[in-house]
Amino acid sequence: MDILQIASGFTPIPSRLARLAELAYNLWWSWHPTAQELFRAMDEPLWEEVYHNPVRLLREIRQVTLERVARQPEFLRRYHGVLADFDAYMTAQDTWFSRHYPTFGGGPVAYFSAEFGLHEALPIYSGGLGILSGDHCKQASDLGLPFVGVGFLYPQGYFRQQIDADGTQQAIYEKLNFAEVPALPAFDRNGCEVVVEVQLADRTIYAKVWHIQVGRVALYLMDTDIHPNAPPDRHLSARLYGGDREMRLSQEMMLGIGGARVLQTLGIRPAVWHVNEGHPAFALLEYARSLVQAGRRFEEALEEVRATSVFTTHTPVPAGHDVFPFEMIEHFFNGYWKELGLSRDAFLNLGRQDQPWGPIFSMTVLGLRMAGRYNAVSRLHGEVTRRMWHFLWPDQPIEQVPIQAITNGVHTASWLAPEMKALYDEYLPADWLERVDDPAVWEAVDSIPDTALWAVRQQLRRALIEFVRQRMRTHLRRLGAEAWQLESVASLCDRDALTIGFARRFATYKRAYLLFQDIERLKRILNQPGRPVQIIFAGKAHPADEPGKEIIRQVYRHAKEPGLAGHIVFLEDYDINMARYLIQGADVWLNTPRRPNEASGTSGQKAALNGVLNVSISDGWWAEGYNGRNGWTIGQPNDQLDPAAQDAEDSRALYSILEEQVIPMFYERDDQGLPRGWLKMMRESIRSVAPTFSTARMLKEYIDKMYMPAAMRTSKPTVEG
Ligand SMILES: *Cc1c(COP(=O)(O)O)cnc(C)c1O
Repeated sequence: MDILQIASGFTPIPSRLARLAELAYNLWWSWHPTAQELFRAMDEPLWEEVYHNPVRLLREIRQVTLERVARQPEFLRRYHGVLADFDAYMTAQDTWFSRHYPTFGGGPVAYFSAEFGLHEALPIYSGGLGILSGDHCKQASDLGLPFVGVGFLYPQGYFRQQIDADGTQQAIYEKLNFAEVPALPAFDRNGCEVVVEVQLADRTIYAKVWHIQVGRVALYLMDTDIHPNAPPDRHLSARLYGGDREMRLSQEMMLGIGGARVLQTLGIRPAVWHVNEGHPAFALLEYARSLVQAGRRFEEALEEVRATSVFTTHTPVPAGHDVFPFEMIEHFFNGYWKELGLSRDAFLNLGRQDQPWGPIFSMTVLGLRMAGRYNAVSRLHGEVTRRMWHFLWPDQPIEQVPIQAITNGVHTASWLAPEMKALYDEYLPADWLERVDDPAVWEAVDSIPDTALWAVRQQLRRALIEFVRQRMRTHLRRLGAEAWQLESVASLCDRDALTIGFARRFATYKRAYLLFQDIERLKRILNQPGRPVQIIFAGKAHPADEPGKEIIRQVYRHAKEPGLAGHIVFLEDYDINMARYLIQGADVWLNTPRRPNEASGTSGQKAALNGVLNVSISDGWWAEGYNGRNGWTIGQPNDQLDPAAQDAEDSRALYSILEEQVIPMFYERDDQGLPRGWLKMMRESIRSVAPTFSTARMLKEYIDKMYMPAAMRTSKPTVEG
């Protein structure tokens, strides 16, 4: 047994299977279904119980079970097959990046993010931002881009959602046992555990650094729950987006400043610094400080920082941008500006945003002032963002504000159902996954027979309905339901009915209530004889967002109302695992944000990849993704209407689309029982969305437009036209 196994408290692993431990500690398995199937095959009930976490599996599996599978030739064959794929992946020299940038010898791109959504077993993400970061890392690994991630390993993560009998959301925090997740302490070049320290106001906070391996990419994640931090400071990194403003500022100082020190301690010299959203923007200050400490003047340091850094902004909602009072910044950074060679005022001006009530310190302004390249996350978001931050470039016309747009995408292998993957493997060119962003590859979806495509869609919907019933049983059992109520779950939802999925954060601007504007009309839509429709909702509201929680309560209550019950379900505790069932198993993916508040959104991209059709407001990625033949756009953008009037108009438009187009097309079957029109639209959706809205396309854009110009120190890119 090697040291890794002993340290991890694993069940003794037979020597024939020794490399299972290594496999468990590389999240490569999270986007390679054959690796997951290998773990599942060892003990299926346990695999579900440990929530698809191989580290926990190897800790809890019985020794007799391990020894039994070690004697099964079929298991050993699979084991060696997975390892061969893993080794080929990890040692490949011929990567996309090495082919395109053969002479690049610089350091890695360092990617700072407050959250990383990699897998349900590692609950250190809250939503879209985290999922995007996770997908970005996996794609960097796939392309062979030198890349490291920096963030927090939150011991309590975000929260687990439970819904009370009256629909009230409860936030449950569970402490993650780091020994049970695929994370190991990070060691420096001398073999010492890495601990960094940051001065916050008058105290010093320490953070221990953990290492998570994601294919070829390393993430370094900090945790402050260590000696000798005082108890309140130990909780500094306990939760994602918890606490008050001071807590938030403390977290962000640790994330940015501590994060930059992690890299320094590890001897990593990034070629590019990528600040993902405002939270980690202090990293650029710390980079500048290190240059000043090495003897440069601040202006020179700033020039260097700007030449090598990238800032991505993710929200058009003003309240979504972190700001702090000047006094708080002054208190927490007392002494820091001197180390930058700056006066107090010059320091505060780096993040200064003037409001009618006085100046505040904005993390986005800091990012825009200190980074040299900036981008929004969809074309429409680019327009909104240029308008929003125009005041920083007062001499430029709005169109020339130098904020580019790089539209988000999804990591195909992470979100594609294995059953759909099998179809693509059979009908698309053999190397389709390596060329996933090449539209030509996807022309071949036309060659998938309707019967095969529809069979997979039916299978995925049925798997979703099974999942819904199982989750409802768990929910009802917790609420103390009677036996007959539990039994009635067996007939909840219809395995063959048109199924609409709606899952996202329950913020008011996402307008989950839009479907309920006219209850009688909704009832008619759901209950047409022979054409049943069902809607599955899921999503968390931020624990402090009372209006968001109220919307959940309403949806939950509607789900019990006569005429809606059985057709509407609210599933508690939305996470990556549930997202996979939903975006793979629904027929329609519904998105109803108030335009233009959705920066991009990615769940609809995941859905389209799996043959699910989008019905969405023209916002975020869909404003550029919709081509008139690949789904439906709800209503007309109209920036003149007040919110209530816009809601009324959009909900009417949504009902009409469902009544006149979606439902008839889904239920129009030929003599083989196939919805030919639906299948045609499905093909168009896959073909038009899968290549363009992949992280392969997205990351190559980051590399070409942002990373390489920064790494090569060429002059700043001009504004796109
Ligand atoms: C994809 C995903 C998101 C982001 O999707 P949106 O379209 O922005 O709502 C959020 N949470 C989970 C669990 C996801 O998988």
